[in-house]
Amino acid sequence: MKVWFHERFLERYARDPAAEEGRLDTMLAAVRAGHELAMPEAATEEDVRRVHTRRHFEEIRRERRIFPVAALAAGAAVAAAEDALAGRPSFALVRPPGHHASPDSCWGFCFFNNVAVALSRLLDRGAVGGAFVLDFDLHHGDGTETAFRSDARVQYAHPEAPDRTDFVERAGQALREAAPYDLLAVSAGFDRFAEDWGGMLALEDYRELGRLARDEARRRCAGRRFAVLEGGYNHDRLGDCLAAFLEGFDDER
Ligand SMILES: [Zn+2]
Repeated sequence: MKVWFHERFLERYARDPAAEEGRLDTMLAAVRAGHELAMPEAATEEDVRRVHTRRHFEEIRRERRIFPVAALAAGAAVAAAEDALAGRPSFALVRPPGHHASPDSCWGFCFFNNVAVALSRLLDRGAVGGAFVLDFDLHHGDGTETAFRSDARVQYAHPEAPDRTDFVERAGQALREAAPYDLLAVSAGFDRFAEDWGGMLALEDYRELGRLARDEARRRCAGRRFAVLEGGYNHDRLGDCLAAFLEGFDDER
């Protein structure tokens, strides 16, 4: 599978857990072992401004260390979504994450909403009529939900469950019960992993989440799907989590 990644994602652009030194290393190694890396361009102001207010855009633009990396992360999500539209499943290995970025504000280590920027571009030009976002990060993607609150074309699901079996079941249920859509996006945060902040999911659960997304995208929308990294903070195990997810999410080889 093509994985969109830029060297600048390795920069320590902020003092938060998502920007920590070494956080992407095991994921990068996992991707290099079995996937094709591609280098994105920064998202344009026009792309970002479809989701974010001028005030928010300018506020982030003044953050000289953050802005170029955040614009590249949004650009990687845009590239992954364009791949998905063309029938190639794709992953954006990015930071900063995006799902806590609302149109006019952000928190939780997020600055621009990468998934929302990518979807808005395709929706705006009529390339897709509707999209579904499955967010399996530990935290609720309030930014994504807010961005599309008044846009019925985008459905957003963030499953919650007391244990791993129920969690995977609820994610599958959310995918199955959604209204029709043309494109499936996954906000892939790995902080619900057993050895991460959430202390819940096993590697095989990430494989199953990937498989559920793949199979449902095939059933619903000719397999059109992409995923974007959100949270995940156990540097040593993130590579295993991502490899497991991509095994399920990718086409069989
Ligand atoms: Zn999170």
